[in-house]
Amino acid sequence: MDHSKYNIAYFSMEIGIRNSIPTYSGGLGVLAGDTIKSCADLEIPLVAITMINEHGYFFQQIDREGNQVAQPTNWAINDYLELTPAQAIIKIQDRDVKIQVWQYIIKGATGFEIPVYFLDSNIASNNEFDRHLTSHLYKGGDLEYRLSQEMVLGIGGYEILKKLGYNNIKKYHMNEGHSALLTLKLNHDLCNSKSMTCENTKPYCIFTTHTPVAAGHDQFPIDMAQRFLKHYTDNIPEKVIQNNALQMTQLALHSSGFINAVSQKHTLVARKMFPGFDIKGITNGIHPPTWVSPPFANLFDKYSPDWRVKPDTLTNIKDASHQEINEAHYINKKKLIDFTNQLANVGMDNDFFTICFGRRITAYKRPDLILLTPDKIAQINNIRPVQIIFAGKAHPSDMEGQAFIKRINQIKNDFKNDIKIAYLENYNIKVAKLMTQGADLWLNNPIPGQEASGTSGMKAAINGVPSLSTLDGWWEEGWEEDVTGWAINEPEEKMDQYTLEELKQKHANTVYEKLEKHIVPSFYNNQTHWLEIMKNCIIKNGTYFNSHRMCHEYWDQAWSK
Ligand SMILES: *Cc1c(COP(=O)(O)O)cnc(C)c1O
Repeated sequence: MDHSKYNIAYFSMEIGIRNSIPTYSGGLGVLAGDTIKSCADLEIPLVAITMINEHGYFFQQIDREGNQVAQPTNWAINDYLELTPAQAIIKIQDRDVKIQVWQYIIKGATGFEIPVYFLDSNIASNNEFDRHLTSHLYKGGDLEYRLSQEMVLGIGGYEILKKLGYNNIKKYHMNEGHSALLTLKLNHDLCNSKSMTCENTKPYCIFTTHTPVAAGHDQFPIDMAQRFLKHYTDNIPEKVIQNNALQMTQLALHSSGFINAVSQKHTLVARKMFPGFDIKGITNGIHPPTWVSPPFANLFDKYSPDWRVKPDTLTNIKDASHQEINEAHYINKKKLIDFTNQLANVGMDNDFFTICFGRRITAYKRPDLILLTPDKIAQINNIRPVQIIFAGKAHPSDMEGQAFIKRINQIKNDFKNDIKIAYLENYNIKVAKLMTQGADLWLNNPIPGQEASGTSGMKAAINGVPSLSTLDGWWEEGWEEDVTGWAINEPEEKMDQYTLEELKQKHANTVYEKLEKHIVPSFYNNQTHWLEIMKNCIIKNGTYFNSHRMCHEYWDQAWSK
């Protein structure tokens, strides 16, 4: 492989490429994987850097009482990745930490190859602590571990690229702030000094911010940061220190010449959060060949043969008949229901209206919202049958998240004679495919303003599945009421009039009302209208909310500059 042609380096703490490489936790990692795959299809010369996470994020089981049990994931690295001879050494405090790297090649539609590198510190010459720095993704709690991990990603990743022979990198793209320490080493190389200003890295650095939620922005006590990073910097600039802590997001913001948020709504939110920065908006997308189900891929091949490289041509799907759409969806739905019945044994029915909710389980996503008044959903089910499938992992140290899982599972059991509900264990790329493709309705109900983009609804849309969602993230752009799906709140909702509980009740009431009066009756009684909505999802949203369009935007605005 000719390494000199690659001039963009993409850094991400997690990358989700395929189900059998479980090094990701959720949307951020899957987005990174989809981005890289689109670059391969579009022949964009990018290399990617991430962590090996040899015990994955975690393997989720749910016990009888609804408690989440987290097991380490073990996966056969050798089966999928190839160990390269390259090694780099970074200095954490005064220790030498050796890093090796595994390679995975993604081949695009035309054969163009994108290498993905997985950093690995599990080397015999490292001490026990350092050998575990690349073992678990987002292992909670310990800040020294986390800072060391981010040094491996940012500084180790930067060094290993040189060792691998990538001597022509012009852009360093930080997907979230976890990799921002690379700017210290880049600055060092540019000015041959350990004095950091955050100015001279700007032409080389791109930063994408992905979350308005505070827990998503790492900070490290300044004395710890100085101790750990002393080999790379003599001064941590005042402007990236707040609350006596190094702010990774501030470091990334101040060091980058191009900064973006991931939906138009999130761009407004991010500009308020980080005043003084020129924050652009590039709305996320999903990789069509990865997320389109086989029956729809067949249909797309028939009506829109170039869709794998030009998903904007999916407007041609207007020529498909309602019967073709219906048949393709039924195959997907049956596959999901079979899978669910095998795992959850709740006797789901292929012909019942099926609502799915699958994503990371955490407070702002309000996973139990549709079950806020279980009697109400049971009553809707009494008129025309409705069944609900949930899935999602809560971070092992997120107790609130785990309480949602418990509550959903308890309601599922308490109401088992009233409504069919299933909770699928161990949400991952495979389960996400089954659910986004097989659902009749994709439900998403975050607190407005807190979901940066959301991508699962895009995976549903390109498979003809409409969303019922709060207007947040991408849905503000993809929503047309009763055309591509439905909204759970008004566009200009006055949120500050309500407490969070009141807001949740209000949104739950809207969910019940729209389901009862409109959505479920349309599904059962107005098939023509329903199938038209399904087609609209592909034509209006599948054509736009894809990572090919997104990568074209990154190329035009940032990567090629
Ligand atoms: C797409 C995806 C997500 C992101 O879902 P959101 O609803 O956008 O949060 C999370 N996990 C997996 C496994 C996914 O495939």
